[in-house]
Amino acid sequence: SLVVVVLLSACQEEAAPPPSPDPPTKQVEDIRIGFSMDTLAEDRWKKDRDLFKEAVESLGAEVLITAANGDDVLQVAQAETLIQSGIDVLVIVPHNAEATAAIVHKAHQAGIKVISYDRLVKNADIDLYVSFDNERVGELQAEAMLQAVPSGNYVFIGGADTDNNAHLLKKGVFSVLQPAIDSGEIRIIYDQWTADWLPSNARDNMKEALQINEQQVDAILAANDATGGGVQEALASYGMQGEIPMTGQDADLAGIRRIVKGEQLMTVYKPIQTLSVTAAELAVTLARGEEVKTSTSVNNGKKEVPSVLIEPIAVTRDTIDETVIQDGYHTKEEVYEE
Ligand code: BGC
Repeated sequence: SLVVVVLLSACQEEAAPPPSPDPPTKQVEDIRIGFSMDTLAEDRWKKDRDLFKEAVESLGAEVLITAANGDDVLQVAQAETLIQSGIDVLVIVPHNAEATAAIVHKAHQAGIKVISYDRLVKNADIDLYVSFDNERVGELQAEAMLQAVPSGNYVFIGGADTDNNAHLLKKGVFSVLQPAIDSGEIRIIYDQWTADWLPSNARDNMKEALQINEQQVDAILAANDATGGGVQEALASYGMQGEIPMTGQDADLAGIRRIVKGEQLMTVYKPIQTLSVTAAELAVTLARGEEVKTSTSVNNGKKEVPSVLIEPIAVTRDTIDETVIQDGYHTKEEVYEE
């Protein structure tokens, strides 16, 4: 029985090690962030890519970036590769708001937290959403247009039906236009999504809008500057380039230059620097296992997702200098060169 007692006490000693401090948080140099992007087509996404990389690296962590060129199957495959390569957090810009839910599930199974970047992943258990107030983008477009064209025939060239941002924008646009629609001041004579946000699809839609309305168009709400470029091609084929007030979004150089030339009414500038730095900081915080507090949340069909929403800024000819140029988003030379 003496032997048993000794063994027991030995076991007890082993089972009760000295109290240890809290598990150490992950060292930042060991952190890897995956950034799964949809497209690099519009100017802004190249800025998102470069600024996000810069921000993560300046925090001392590593970043792996993929872009899927508008292909859902490819985006899922690329995200799987990121998950397998030992990332701590996945930051995703979904091509398709619904299709990417599968990625979120896989990441979580691997213990990886997921941040939805700019575009919301719907019906998935994402951990954070970092974007702009996209409904406000639509409101800014409609407010500017109503001021410039208080009555007449309006064309709405929307974004991609598969992108939640396109829906938020449309909601914002129509919330501002509704009273003028109800009073009969303005008439919506064409309203169409632009598949995949492709300028060529926007061009075809605008051609159709001109055709079925015998060119009687007074205002064009183009969802972003790239689709606005397609709209201008359609107008050009009728010899009407730059002749109808048109909105945009993104402060693409092409859009800003059209504004300078008087061929576009306005665009909506979204400071990508702020978005990318905020997302990088939050990603590293999550990777360290620390808690993140946000002041708002957005429902994605599955849950209230803690969210950070940055204010978009309307830009007209009068405010180009104090917005995009002052921020270094574009240089004075490239904006005003002949
Ligand atoms: C973004 C826009 C962009 C569009 C097309 C949207 O989700 O918010 O800034 O122009 O996608 O890529």
